[in-house]
Parts: sequence; C-alpha cells; structure tokens
Amino acid sequence: MSDVRVRFAPSPTGPLHIGGVRTALYNYLFSKKHGGKMLLRIEDTDQTRFVPGAENYILEALQWVGITIDEGPTQGGPHAPYRQSERKPMYRAYAEQLIAEGNAYYAFDTEEELEAMKERLKAAKVASPSYNMVTRMQMNNSLTLPEDEVKRRLDNGEAYVIRLKVPRKEEIRLNDLIRGWVVVHSSTIDDKVLLKSDGMPTYHLANIVDDHLMGITHVIRGEEWLPSAPLHVLLYRFLGWESTMPKFAHLPLLLKPDGNGKLSKRDADAGGFPVFPIDWKVPGTEDTWIGFRDQGYLQEAVVNFLAFLGWNPGTQEELFTMEQLIQEFSIERIGKSGTKFDINKAKWYNQQYLRLKSDAELQQLMESVLQAEGVSYDSTTIGAISLLLKERVTFAQDFWTEGKFFFQAPLSYDSAVASSKWNSDAIQVSKALQDKLQSHTGDLSPETAKHLFHEVLDEQGIKIGKVMQAVRLAITGVGAGPDLMHIISILGKDETVQRLQSALSTLSETVKP
Ligand code: GLU
Repeated sequence: MSDVRVRFAPSPTGPLHIGGVRTALYNYLFSKKHGGKMLLRIEDTDQTRFVPGAENYILEALQWVGITIDEGPTQGGPHAPYRQSERKPMYRAYAEQLIAEGNAYYAFDTEEELEAMKERLKAAKVASPSYNMVTRMQMNNSLTLPEDEVKRRLDNGEAYVIRLKVPRKEEIRLNDLIRGWVVVHSSTIDDKVLLKSDGMPTYHLANIVDDHLMGITHVIRGEEWLPSAPLHVLLYRFLGWESTMPKFAHLPLLLKPDGNGKLSKRDADAGGFPVFPIDWKVPGTEDTWIGFRDQGYLQEAVVNFLAFLGWNPGTQEELFTMEQLIQEFSIERIGKSGTKFDINKAKWYNQQYLRLKSDAELQQLMESVLQAEGVSYDSTTIGAISLLLKERVTFAQDFWTEGKFFFQAPLSYDSAVASSKWNSDAIQVSKALQDKLQSHTGDLSPETAKHLFHEVLDEQGIKIGKVMQAVRLAITGVGAGPDLMHIISILGKDETVQRLQSALSTLSETVKP
C-alpha cells in the first residue's frame, strides 16, 4: 500500500481512555507496517468540553506506550497547525461552499425555538425528535425564510448555525474494512450542525475537512463513531472528495470483564484496576484516577495486551514485541465483536515480560523498588534475590512484598502455619540447625546449606517433610516462598542463626509438646 497516512484524533476533554490508546496503537501499527505516516490531530473545537492538561496527558501517554508521531502539534509538519482550534478560519469556506451548492443552509433558530420544536414532536409521539428533512420546514432557516429576510438577518449579524441538508430518500453505503458493507437510509440522519454560532466547526465538519486536507488514507477509530460514518460519507460526496475518501475501519468495543456492556470507569473502580494509561490528577480536586504505568505495568506488557484486545495473529503465539506486532498486524485480523477487558490477562503479560528481562535489568528494577520503599540493602545480594523471586513476581513492586524477609527479620509469624507446624520436631531441628550453622566456617552456598540441613535431619532422625515449613516460618515468618536453602545462603550464617534463635524463643510459647 503506498503512502499510508493515518491519524489519531483525540479530543482533549479529559484523560485518554485505554480504548483510545488501543485506537492509537492500531493506527501506529498499521502505518509502520506499511511504511506510512502517523498524525496526531487535537480535535478541540468543542470549547465547552476543553480540559486543561488533557493534551499533555495524551502526549505523555502516547510517549510511554512507545507510539511515535510523525506529524502533530509538537512535531509540526506540512499540514500544520494540527490543533483544530488553530485551524478555525479554514472551515467556514467549506460550509459556505456547501450552502452555495444547495447542500447546507443557515438556521437562525433560538434555543427556545429548538426546545419548543422538541416538545411539539414529543407531544406528537415522535420517537426521536430531531431537526431533519421533515422538521426543518417548520423552522427559521434559509430554506423556509424569504431570501431577502435571510440576507437581512445575516447583514444584521444575527446568530446562526450552518446545518447539513441531508437528502430525503437515499441509501448511504460504506464499505468498512472490518464490518463490510454498512447501509443506512438518509431518513435516519438529522441535519447536523456543521458550523456553530461562534464560528467554530463541529466535529463532523472539522474532521472531514482535516482528513481530506491532511491526505488521510485510512480512518481507524472506535465503533462509537460508526453511526456518524454515513454522515461523513455524505460530506465527502457534497464536498466533491468522494474519490479520495479514506477507507474506514471501526474497531470493536471494549467490554466489561463479564462481557455485559461497554467497559466503564465505574467497572474499573469496582474491580480496582486501571482503565487509563497513566495516572490522571483530576483538576481542582485531590482525586487521582489510576493508570497502568503508575500501577507498575511495563510498557511492553501493556502494548501486547492492548494489541490483543480485538486483534489476533491467527496463531497460538501470544508474546509480541512492538516490532513483531508491526510485522504481523493486519486490519483483516481485527474481530467484529466486542472484546472483554480481562485485567488478569494484563497481569499475565506483565509477569511474562518481567521474566524476559535480563538479570541486570531485574536487579535494577528491584533496586529502584527498594529505594522507593526506603529500604537499606547490600547491593551485592540483589542480583541473587531478584533471580530467586523472578518466578513469583507479577509487578516489580512484588520484589518488595514477596521479598521483605530478606531485608527485615520477622516481626511476627504466620499464625496458621505456626499452630499447625511448629511442634517439638520443629523445635528440635531448629535448635540443631542453629548449632550446626554456628559451628560452620567457610562459605555458605545454597548447596552447603542444604548439606548441613540434611546432616541435622539425619542426626535427629526426622523426615524433611515434617519440619520444612516450620523452619521456613522460623527464618522468614511466612509459610511459603522461594527455595529456603538459597534464602539461608543469602541471609548468611549470622542472620540465619539469629532468626532461628528469636523464633525459638517467640514461637515456642505456642507449642504443645
Ligand atoms: N475527536 C474524535 C474523538 O475524540 C475523533 C473520532 C475520529 O477518529 O474520527 O474520538
């Protein structure tokens, strides 16, 4: 495909939802795959919904995810500006062209008149009252008012909007790359406002004009825009741009974890999981909406997870780097039906990508977590500890939660394990192990620790299965964890001896001989 140009066109009305990040990602993968360009266009024509900080949030989120933009507000480019509010003067001419050619009209109706129309239609039991091909004839617009009256109103500077004149009886067809043919009858479309009374274009006009002027070849966006697509097709036709109209691909919805309805922030709050890429500090409040990055998800895990929310490579393979996704991605393999948002899958990806890290990277991750926790540590042991914990962590943060006992002696002991496992055998073995370690000299590798432990068991005539968990409890305070001999080796002789000593005095009170 030659000269692919796609765009991500968010409105800065709040933090970018994770579904929006998926849209951006699919656009990015598609453009990279075809050696094309990816544009970022900020659609900020609705000034009433503008939220300060939202544009920066979008930029930061895209950067974190690893989506690079070729043309956009920060990068510039041949079609600058890329912020619609800065393009305001460009749109009016197109709206006026539509009027001149009989495809749009001026409408002077006041709020009250619009309201009264709605009430009238409601009273007449019209299901969805709207300003359309039928009702337009009862309103104050350039189709109903005499020409000189229209001119007088315009000359007087009376407020007006420009509306699209939707044809009466027509089938509008569009071949969506994901959904196939979509056919809509024009009678279901209302006469959308194209230019508002403040001279700003609405989304529909600005979006079509910009996609055309910016040479967009493929519009890849969320399914929520599918109902607007026929209207967009009409605009392309009326503006004489039908032959270069972009191809459309409407992405399936992201569904709640149980598959019942659209994923919402409320589901995320209830489930305690993020639906935003990065944290969002809600302006003017103390609230923070949690984001994947700040919850400890790795960028590569989120990319892989998002790519699979609606697309699959057609094989059993699940782990794909950004580069591999670019190679494999195709619009044909995007599903039609909504995709359940399964946060456990995101966690699984995170776990997989942590395991793929090099030893040095893992050590570095663990050290930064410890530093953030304010834990003091001996960095010569962190390599070994991080390797030992590698299979047990889902997030880097778990290096601390799963490995606390490496840095602090037990402050308490798991009571369930203590009451079921701490018995006279455990006491006997712990004492003997303490003595054995005390008199041991030289290195204490995991193998040596194992050897010494087995000597103790043989000497006491006690089977390993009877006391293993109790000894672990004495040394770590908990009943499960990585290999105990490695733990002993890392803690070293003195620390292990001391911990056995404290356990013997603290725990023994609970024993019933
Ligand atoms: N500004 C729209 C949005 O916020 C863009 C929709 C489109 O891609 O056409 O999602």
